[in-house]
Amino acid sequence: MTNETRTAIVTGAARGIGAAIALRFARDGLRVAVLDLEEAACQATADRIAAEGGTALAVGCDVADEDAVTSAVARVAAELGAPTILVNNAGIIRDNLIFKMTVDDWDAVMSVHLRGAFLMSRACQAHMKDAAFGRIVNLSSTSALGNRGQANYAAAKAGMQGLAKTLAIELGRYGVTANAIAPGFIQTDMTAATAERVGIPFDQFLEAAAKEIPVQRVGQPEDIAATASFLCSQDAGFVSGQVIYVAGGPRD
Ligand code: NAP
Repeated sequence: MTNETRTAIVTGAARGIGAAIALRFARDGLRVAVLDLEEAACQATADRIAAEGGTALAVGCDVADEDAVTSAVARVAAELGAPTILVNNAGIIRDNLIFKMTVDDWDAVMSVHLRGAFLMSRACQAHMKDAAFGRIVNLSSTSALGNRGQANYAAAKAGMQGLAKTLAIELGRYGVTANAIAPGFIQTDMTAATAERVGIPFDQFLEAAAKEIPVQRVGQPEDIAATASFLCSQDAGFVSGQVIYVAGGPRD
């Protein structure tokens, strides 16, 4: 089977890293389901893919909602083809120091990242098993190693690594690999929101971040898309259960 006959789902693909992964996958020849909370927001990414000659479907879905996930995956299978590639990218931040963090802040972050990745992976693995081929990529973060003000996010992102490793062990026998990408600082709306929260203009925030990174620049969504492209390729079939830090320098 070639890329042209494979279907990928990218969650949180209306913008940022997810949109870049969706575009890259389409350039790789995959059919792409662009999934995000609002279908209208997904349409912009789907239109960009179509304008380049690719095939995309905009799908509105809250990844934390079990019924919505079941319907969305069924719709993708019916309208685009069985999803055998899944990128669990949807994410939110609700940063605060632990003494100020609310239960809602904690639950919201766990829901989108962990419950969302669990529900999406569970819904897609049946299609992967039937096809005897599958690729799952979870978006983790360097914050998984611990980050001030991100107790909820760090715990969720460490969980995304554990989930990927376990899916690798359980699904490997069906030709399915599962890996995690742990980005460092990537220039998106998410890091712009962090700059706003700490009260620093975004360009100064980017400049300061770049100075701390060995390659002396911040990451772009395309840096993550290139890594996802490799991990989801036919050639990456022996790479499974790994965490790849894409951070412009070493992390452990
Ligand atoms: P972003 O620009 O904020 O995009 C995240 C997307 O996820 C948004 O379109 C958002 O939709 C969507 N989303 C949120 N909750 C959802 C839900 N319940 N169901 C479906 N979609 C949902 O973030 P990003 O910077 O591209 O980050 C993408 C991923 O990489 C996240 O998992 C993030 O944690 C991770 N990451 C980012 C960085 C970084 O430096 N940017 C670093 C490490 C890891 P709305 O716009 O409607 O909320």
